[in-house]
Amino acid sequence: MSTKEIYLEAGISKEVYEFGEQIIEQLKDRFSEVDHIAEYNQMKVLRAMQKNRVCAEHFAATTGYGYNDAGRDALEQVYADCFHTEAALVRPQITCGTHALAVALSAILRPGDELLSPVGKPYDTLEEVIGIRDSIGSLKEFNISYAQVDLLPDNSFDYEGIKNAINERTKLVTIQRSKGYATRKTLSVKEIGELISFIKGIRNDIICMVDNCYGEFVEMIEPSDVGADMIVGSLIKNPGGGLAPIGGYICGTKECVDKCAYRLSAPGLGQEVGANLGILPSFYQGFFLAPTVVSGALKGAIFAANIYEKLGFKVIPNSTESRHDIIQAVEFGTPEGVISFCQGIQAAAPVDSYVTPEPWDMPGYDSPVIMAAGAFVQGSSIELSADGPIKPPYAVYFQGGLTWYHAKFGILMSLQKLVDNNVINLENLSK
Ligand SMILES: *Cc1c(COP(=O)(O)O)cnc(C)c1O
Repeated sequence: MSTKEIYLEAGISKEVYEFGEQIIEQLKDRFSEVDHIAEYNQMKVLRAMQKNRVCAEHFAATTGYGYNDAGRDALEQVYADCFHTEAALVRPQITCGTHALAVALSAILRPGDELLSPVGKPYDTLEEVIGIRDSIGSLKEFNISYAQVDLLPDNSFDYEGIKNAINERTKLVTIQRSKGYATRKTLSVKEIGELISFIKGIRNDIICMVDNCYGEFVEMIEPSDVGADMIVGSLIKNPGGGLAPIGGYICGTKECVDKCAYRLSAPGLGQEVGANLGILPSFYQGFFLAPTVVSGALKGAIFAANIYEKLGFKVIPNSTESRHDIIQAVEFGTPEGVISFCQGIQAAAPVDSYVTPEPWDMPGYDSPVIMAAGAFVQGSSIELSADGPIKPPYAVYFQGGLTWYHAKFGILMSLQKLVDNNVINLENLSK
C-alpha cells in the first residue's frame, strides 16, 4: 500500500489529499526554516545535558522528603543552562502552568505591592489568581493590587500608558508571550526584550516575569535571553515534549527562583525538598525531544493556516507571518465549521478517535464550547487539540501535534469533515 492509499483507507478523499499535497509543495522553505530552528534548539538542550553529565543515576526515583535528589537537581541545572538563567525550579509538584505562575507571583509580591500587566488582559485562569475576578486566596485578598495597560489598536506597546502606570508600589511586571485565546497578537522575543528594556529604564528594580506558555523553542532565543528575571511555563505544553505527565517550571535569577522555591514548599525548606517519585525519565526525555515536537506542531499550524486561508477563511496568524507560539486560529463564521473542524481533529487522534465531540455548556463559559483532544496526557495541549466557542466569529483555536505527520493527518481530517458536512466545496476551488 502506498502512503496515499493509507490516507484514502483512513477516510481522506482523493481531492482532499491532493489539495493538501499541493499546499505542502509550496511550504518547503517555511518548513526548512522551522527545521533550522529545531536543530539549533536541539543542540542547545543536548549541550546542557552533556555539560551537566546527565547519567542513568539521575533517572532514579526518590520518595519522602527527597533530600539530595541528584536527578532533580541536575534537571533543574539543565533547564537553567538551556535557558541561560542562574537557577531553575522544575517540579512535578508544580501541577500546571497556572500553578507555576501563581507560585511565581505570590513568591515575589508582598502586601501593598502592585502587579502590572503592560500587554493587556492575562490568560483566563490568571484572572482568579490575581483577583481580577474575585476568588479565594487571590493576590487581591492579600492586598496586592493590579494594574493593566492594553496594547494599542495596532498591537504595539502603549509606552506612554505604561510609563504612567508604573509607580513606587509597582513590584512585578507580567508579560504574556502567547496571545493564548485572546485576539491580540503573540509577542516575539525581540519585542519582549524591548519592553523589558523600557521598564528597566524607568526603574531597574522592577521584576520582569514572562508567561512563556506555548512559546518555548519556537524561536532560537527565549525571553530569559533578553532580560526577563523569570520565565514560567507548563510541562504539559512545549518543554515537556509530550512525555512529561505533569509539571511546571520557573527559570530565572537565583534570588527569584529561591523565593519561588520557598513559596512552593515552605519557608526554610525551599528547593531542598520535593521527591521526584520516579517520573524524571519523562522530564529529561521530554525536554530532549521538545525542540523536534515543537517543530512538528509549528508545521501543522503553518499547514492549516495555508489550507484555510486558501479556502477563503480568516486565519490568525496568516499563511505567511512569522510564528512566536504554536497556536493557530481559524474563523469559520458558522457553527458547522467549528464543529466539523473539531470532529476531524478528534477522528485523527491516536486516543479516543472513535468519540464524536459535541458542543456543551461548560461551567464558566458564556456559550457552548466544543473541544477535541485525543491525548496520551489528559489536557496536554502540546498534543494535537482544538476547541472553539459556539459564538461569532465562530473561530476554532488549535495547537500541538507530537509529530508533523499526525498534525498533517488531523488537519486533512478536519478538512474532510468540512467537505463531508458541505461547509466547503473543493470542486469550486480547483482553478
Ligand atoms: C496554558 C496557559 C496558561 C495556563 O497553563 P495551565 O497548564 O493550563 O494551567 C497560562 N498562560 C498561557 C499563555 C497559557 O497558554
